[in-house]
Amino acid sequence: MIIFVLLMLSGSVSAQCVEDAPYSFSTSGFSETMGRWLFSGDGIIWNYPRDKNEVFLTFDDAPSLKYTPSVLDVLKKYQVKGSFFVIGNRLKSEKEKTILRKISEDGHDIFPHSRDHKNSLLWQDPYDLLREISEIELEITAITGKTYPKLYRPAWGIIPEAHRKLLVQNGYKIILADVFGGYFSLPRFGFDEPKSKMVPYLLENTKPGSIIVLHNGEKRSDGVFDSDCLEEILEVYLPKIKQKFSLKSLSQKQD
Ligand SMILES: [Zn+2]
Repeated sequence: MIIFVLLMLSGSVSAQCVEDAPYSFSTSGFSETMGRWLFSGDGIIWNYPRDKNEVFLTFDDAPSLKYTPSVLDVLKKYQVKGSFFVIGNRLKSEKEKTILRKISEDGHDIFPHSRDHKNSLLWQDPYDLLREISEIELEITAITGKTYPKLYRPAWGIIPEAHRKLLVQNGYKIILADVFGGYFSLPRFGFDEPKSKMVPYLLENTKPGSIIVLHNGEKRSDGVFDSDCLEEILEVYLPKIKQKFSLKSLSQKQD
């Protein structure tokens, strides 16, 4: 017990977050198959072409006073640039704004990921969504002084056809993902797999052109995501994945 506590205090990888075991089947794969069937069309990007040895690390639901600073430290340690999809309602306090600026100053990308992450998107007027996205972009620019390419990730990865059409007409690309760190524990929807299997899952499923989605937000009422394990996951995942692929932010791909 004492040894266990000492290990936890020293920041070692915990079995709760990282398990060194093969992992083949996952609900994440099921979600992707369903998603690709439901949401497709011009402007939707599930992954980039498989002919280049580059992958794209993305973080949803940021910023978080609790979780973002330590993740920025790990990314800096391994010299990796990522892309953060932020929730508009989390850009209000000075502390949140300071974290957003830090994300930007460290060279990562920042894009909108809805105002409040409610799953009412299906019923939202497409023009309301367009306005919401551009308002969040303006807030990001006001806080960081930077503008980013017009990329958007919908909450829940749900993008109805009318929304897709209007966004594409207005120059947006919709970034989804083909490697899903976050869907391991959604008890409300019957998915409750141990987060400890996420690293083996990520390592087995990351392919050339992959877009990897992880979560960097506070616990929401609609699910428990990987935020509380993210630092430990990245400590194991990043050095291994860096040996195989070049990790890029999404804006580096838009040039
Ligand atoms: Zn999200």
